[in-house]
Amino acid sequence: MAQETMSFQAEVKQLLHLMIHSLYSNKEIFLRELISNASDAADKLRFEAIANNALYEDDAILRIRVGYDKAARTITIDDNGIGMSHDEVVANLGTIARSGTKEFFGKLSGDQQKDAALIGQFGVGFYSGFIVADKIAVESRRAGLPASQAVRWESAGEGEFSVEAIERASRGTTITLHLRADEDELLSSWKLKSIIQKYSDHVGLPIEMKAEEWDAEKNEMVTKDAFETINQASALWTRSKSEISDEQYQQFYQHLAHDHQNPLAWTHNRVEGRSEYTQLLYVPAHAPFDMWNRDHRGGLKLYVKRVFIMDDAEQLLPNYLRFVKGVVDSSDLPLNVSREILQESRDVKAIRDGVTKRVLSMLEEMAQAADPAQTDADTTDEDKAKFATFWTEFGQVLKEGIGEDFANRERIAKLLRFATTHGDTAQQNVSLADYVARMKPEQTKIYYVTADTWQAAKNSPHLEVFRKKGVEVLLLTDRVDEWMLSYLNEFDGKALVSVARGDLDLGALNDEEKQQQEKVSEALKPLVERMKETLKDKAKDVRLTFRLTDSPSCLVADEGEMSGYLQRMLKAAGQQAPDSHPILEVNPEHPLVKGLSADHADFADWCHLLFDQALLAEGGALDDPASFVKRTNALLLARAG
Ligand code: ADP
Ligand code: MG
Repeated sequence: MAQETMSFQAEVKQLLHLMIHSLYSNKEIFLRELISNASDAADKLRFEAIANNALYEDDAILRIRVGYDKAARTITIDDNGIGMSHDEVVANLGTIARSGTKEFFGKLSGDQQKDAALIGQFGVGFYSGFIVADKIAVESRRAGLPASQAVRWESAGEGEFSVEAIERASRGTTITLHLRADEDELLSSWKLKSIIQKYSDHVGLPIEMKAEEWDAEKNEMVTKDAFETINQASALWTRSKSEISDEQYQQFYQHLAHDHQNPLAWTHNRVEGRSEYTQLLYVPAHAPFDMWNRDHRGGLKLYVKRVFIMDDAEQLLPNYLRFVKGVVDSSDLPLNVSREILQESRDVKAIRDGVTKRVLSMLEEMAQAADPAQTDADTTDEDKAKFATFWTEFGQVLKEGIGEDFANRERIAKLLRFATTHGDTAQQNVSLADYVARMKPEQTKIYYVTADTWQAAKNSPHLEVFRKKGVEVLLLTDRVDEWMLSYLNEFDGKALVSVARGDLDLGALNDEEKQQQEKVSEALKPLVERMKETLKDKAKDVRLTFRLTDSPSCLVADEGEMSGYLQRMLKAAGQQAPDSHPILEVNPEHPLVKGLSADHADFADWCHLLFDQALLAEGGALDDPASFVKRTNALLLARAG
């Protein structure tokens, strides 16, 4: 059969024109696309050979070969996959057979940038070769057809292509790209290898190139006859779990995360249903140095049908899980999907929800292994220690999830760990469930205190009454805590309340003492009024408290107002914070307060001292330290004299 010349379908012409002009800045993708096609061709052969083993001929080891010829200025991509017949070549490389083509062209606006994104959505495939080539030749023989029925296709990517019959002994397809004038950079084994490793490392069959060697006599690199494999040639996550050893999972993690330590845990599964994908997710054993940087890129590596699409696909993972490393391999997304498209895709949303659930389950399992009550004999000491490591490294990040992920708030809340007054350690190891299990029968609320350090929290005067009554209090010292608690109002039906905010209502915990307290309050009313008058520039209110046992006074924030701790934290971070005055609470049982007399000359000094002390005790800074020292000394001297 003689050579025939045919016209491209009109849409192909339009697509070619657009692609060459708008995807140029991303030109390396042509290799990924052509390798992806070669890999698909291998998959198709494997599939057809299930029914007809003869298709393998005597060449059953499937591979892709990439080569280049400096003199001819060509790059070749060769596969021994299924190949194409004459008619298949005409149909596949002359038209766009995909459904939705019309719609696609209807959406093109002529605005280059917008159209480039659309092309990405559509998938560029074979035609992307024309980004770097001004002529492409394809020689192919379909598996099972005789050598005489091979075909050669050729085109300059403009309006037409030619097809002719050729002889070809080997099954499969060879694509030769004749490079455009300024693409010589691609004619280097180093360059081609690096593109292949970047985009196609985990294509599941070997990608080979001819080995090169330095020849000292000729003083140049010479090409040898032997081939070497450039990629990993194994998409680990596509293999079944039972075939993969722990070591292999760990090695893959190290390669993926550029981490020399092993991960704490991983999970690997395939999701089927409306959205189909495989996920392999890891929890590292330590936080990266830049986890708190604004430009830290979280996210997973995204593959589509084993072809690498992008790193750090943050759309696949909520921000509070940004420490997770791993791979998602989707069967549904288009190969040339962009970040913009990911943002809007419903498939991506389904993947993100699935990934989140999977990670939370993984953390729950880790937490379970750490629970002293669990009795599984297979749990090693190493397993038991993992959740504590996780919490130390990533607990603060996970806390962000309380505010970010409404749907999973309860699950996340169960994973939280705190230091509390129950133990004498700064280690955060008490869950809210542990706390609830230890609550007093009359206790209805979960109490917490916030401070800069564990020491300060533990010694806060606000805790005195709780200690006296044996009620546990959470000691919160992470920066994110106050913010988190504004989203976590209750756990297991019990309200979380600050011991330093509002009027402390201990409810039934305090019943017997109430009457006695009311009497005292009545008697001291005039004194409290005088104090309030004296401190009107510092304190919003002065009132008696029964929460203190050892200290004479403390400060509390009014209901609905920001705590002093949070105000200081915001100011330290250079942010605006309202200057609301705290409430001074004084302990009527304390000798200093008992000894107060409104008629005494130093009454005002005592009032200021009680306020300033309370401020110091909660880690605050005095507005006028010199006056504080002067007053204190005057009072000490008066006592001494
Ligand atoms: P897609 O891969 O998304 O189908 P492409 O433009 O990449 O779109 O390829 C178009 C078609 O050409 C493929 O579907 C396939 O049928 C055929 N094709 C391309 N390259 C090869 C190859 N190396 N071996 C066999 N068929 C191929
Ligand atoms: Mg393709």
